[in-house]
Amino acid sequence: MSIQVLKPKFHIDECLDAVRECLEKGWTGMGFKTVEFEQEWKKYTGHRCAYYLNSNTVGLHLAVKILKEQNSWQDGDEIITTPITFVSTNHAILYENLHATFADVDEYLCLDPIDVERKINDRTRAVIFVGYGGRVGKLDKIIELCKKHNLKLILDAAHMSGTRVNGVCPGTWDGVDVAVYSYQAVKNLPTGDSGMICFAEERFDKLARQIAWLGINKDTYARSNKGTYAWKYDVDCVGYKYNGNAIMAAIALVQLKYLDEDNDRRRQIVDMYNKAFSGNKNIQIIHAPYANECSYHIYELAVPNREALLGELAKHEIYGGVHYRDNTEYSMYRYADGTCPHAREMSDHIITLPLHMWLTDEDVELIIKTVSEFVK
Ligand SMILES: *Cc1c(COP(=O)(O)O)cnc(C)c1O
Repeated sequence: MSIQVLKPKFHIDECLDAVRECLEKGWTGMGFKTVEFEQEWKKYTGHRCAYYLNSNTVGLHLAVKILKEQNSWQDGDEIITTPITFVSTNHAILYENLHATFADVDEYLCLDPIDVERKINDRTRAVIFVGYGGRVGKLDKIIELCKKHNLKLILDAAHMSGTRVNGVCPGTWDGVDVAVYSYQAVKNLPTGDSGMICFAEERFDKLARQIAWLGINKDTYARSNKGTYAWKYDVDCVGYKYNGNAIMAAIALVQLKYLDEDNDRRRQIVDMYNKAFSGNKNIQIIHAPYANECSYHIYELAVPNREALLGELAKHEIYGGVHYRDNTEYSMYRYADGTCPHAREMSDHIITLPLHMWLTDEDVELIIKTVSEFVK
């Protein structure tokens, strides 16, 4: 059987039971399981607020939109971001007519605080930090910078479900204004598609709920009418349809129970890889700080000839991948071409090896053998 680069493993019977509950109750939309999952996520992470959405992408948009409106940013103001990410991160900035300024990445493939500081100017309003591969990188230094320069901080935590630092979820650190998680099909906590937005401030959580639900303002009505006409509501802004649904939340609630166990297995596999490759001078391992608490969403190596290695692996029915290309190579972001040399260098050499719950130790050993015999 071939080995895929990413493949989610579901606790199928439990998921089906949970979905059945929704179907029997006749409640598959927003509410019921979505509320339950928000509570469980808050318990699991320590976040004070959590609002369940249909993806991380819409969560990033909400984060940028709300911070822009609440802080009176102007069109064309800048947010500093990373070129090594899925495009969602950067599109979120453009959705709101802001400018994406790219800063280079460090040895963890996360934003490099030194280059971030160089790229701050008087139109800079925020930083979006991606906990790439589940790694916390130098988020602590980025928080210091944001405080020093009065910038907001958005954490794209799409890879970070389960990552902790000394037992604490970094999304809850003081200085992170909002953290956005993804439960997309191949993330550490897989559903079909969904995500969570966790604002530090409750008033922003309230706004997110309203904007993600077409701008419908039930609270205003409830306050003025004491619930007499419970069906009546006002709409006081042009909102979106960004909410999550109970079917996805039902699956999420089941998968959450296994997240720590799954992440333990990921770390075991990463240990096997790291031990095997650490003596190879043609292989660069991307290490994680606080490695024993990292969610390790993906496992990457930098190698001299990535295409050749992908081909060699494919011959053994092992399918590697590339996550992600330097975004400044895309037409949309080419204006920043050449501004992040380390990101470009890494983007040309990184390969993603299989890392998921279906891998047996024998699979991992076969992958190691194939890579080690080819890259010498
Ligand atoms: C997957 C991913 C996203 C988007 O998540 P969705 O839930 O699919 O919208 C955003 N940022 C990063 C870094 C991702 O890997």
